[in-house]
Amino acid sequence: MSESTPPDHADRAVHALPSAPVHTGHTSGRELVQLSGLRKVYNAGQPNEIEVLHGLDLRIRQGEFAALIGPSGSGKSTLLNVLGLLERGTAGEYVLAGQAISTLDDQALTRLRRDTLGFVFQFHHLLPAFTAEENVAMPVRVRDGVVSPRLRERARELLSAVGLSNAMDRKPSQLSGGMQQRVAIARALMLEPALVLADEPTGNLDTASSSEVFALLRRIHREVSTTFLVVTHDPRLAARCDRVIELVDGRISADGVPAAS
Ligand code: ADP
Repeated sequence: MSESTPPDHADRAVHALPSAPVHTGHTSGRELVQLSGLRKVYNAGQPNEIEVLHGLDLRIRQGEFAALIGPSGSGKSTLLNVLGLLERGTAGEYVLAGQAISTLDDQALTRLRRDTLGFVFQFHHLLPAFTAEENVAMPVRVRDGVVSPRLRERARELLSAVGLSNAMDRKPSQLSGGMQQRVAIARALMLEPALVLADEPTGNLDTASSSEVFALLRRIHREVSTTFLVVTHDPRLAARCDRVIELVDGRISADGVPAAS
């Protein structure tokens, strides 16, 4: 199935949403992510013990659009899992939106993850039995048990913003890969995250859809004050980010504006 509406010509601007995320008060300065000396060891104390991240220092400020690149096995997914509060580091300090992660129990961690972070994966993980609109509203259903009319409207406005106003009632199987990924992006924005972590968000798409989905992420970044960290293997996409962080063998080997392509 072909794309119905290119995301750059979406029928509604993202800033037309009912409430753009405003995350003030709970951040320390304007730094959203403060990582100091992060180490991650798997299988500690066992013969197959492996240290994957060797003392990373990383700061991400609100409003950045950064790429995370590096060879396979360099630790990108592990870093994303720690940043995404899916795993804890073995040593070091992580402060997210002003909250020191080491002081939080698992329940507080889950709450912080839900209230602060949005995730976009290579595979969209949409629920096949639900429509696009229901999928976008799913984080609300999980959080509140029900979806209020106001938040249902927000889900519909998000779908319009990603160029899918004609596809709200379709199931994932009735959407192209690019459209499915746009639904997943709308879902990631549903709870107004301060930081979106995207793991190879275009890795499963053909070149044209990939470029369109990336353009959509950039447009959302421009129009709403959401911070992005995007893992990508694609140097052309990394070149379209404002900052490129490169991991090699569990260490940050480069961090700065993208090299001119
Ligand atoms: P990347 O995303 O850059 O490909 P990963 O973070 O997936 O890198 O993996 C980095 C290293 O950590 C690899 O050597 C991988 O085998 C190892 N690793 C990742 N997860 C685990 C785990 N749960 N247990 C043991 N080793 C792991």
